[in-house]
Amino acid sequence: MRPCYMQQDCIYHYICPMKYSDYKKLLKSHSLRITDSRIDVLEKFFRTKHALSFKDLEEEFNNYDRVTLYRTLNSFIDKGILHKIPNEDGFASYGLCTEECTQVSHRHDHVHFKCNVCGHIECLQDHIVPKVQLPGYEIETQNLIVNGVCKVCKKGVVPATTKT
Ligand SMILES: [Zn+2]
Ligand SMILES: [Zn+2]
Ligand SMILES: [Zn+2]
Repeated sequence: MRPCYMQQDCIYHYICPMKYSDYKKLLKSHSLRITDSRIDVLEKFFRTKHALSFKDLEEEFNNYDRVTLYRTLNSFIDKGILHKIPNEDGFASYGLCTEECTQVSHRHDHVHFKCNVCGHIECLQDHIVPKVQLPGYEIETQNLIVNGVCKVCKKGVVPATTKT
């Protein structure tokens, strides 16, 4: 199993580097059956620094049909392993949850960052979206996507997975 390439910047460092047994444990603790597609998709999310779209998964895993990938993704969203990140171009991305998420409580108030250079979306789990005050309205969710240049692009290093 590959070590976590994010190293000290990785917000999932508490479980990295992930081993096969760790993925199994993670699935079990979220009451999911262990299947090859779940292990593969999970591994992809852990070794990718940024959020992934359904299209990214389809491109990576042509060995699985769309239905399998779709179900795998939905089971992760349902159980609190992944959360959906709305994207202004209409194609949602999905990011890993922290260990606090469960099937019953799955809350996300962190900032998402979209890089204008590589197009990747990152979860900034340490940065919480400030509460908007809207008297008379009941707020259910707040989403904030900040656009700019990510750390990798700022350094001028071309990310290995860049897509246009
Ligand atoms: Zn979550
Ligand atoms: Zn970038
Ligand atoms: Zn996120």
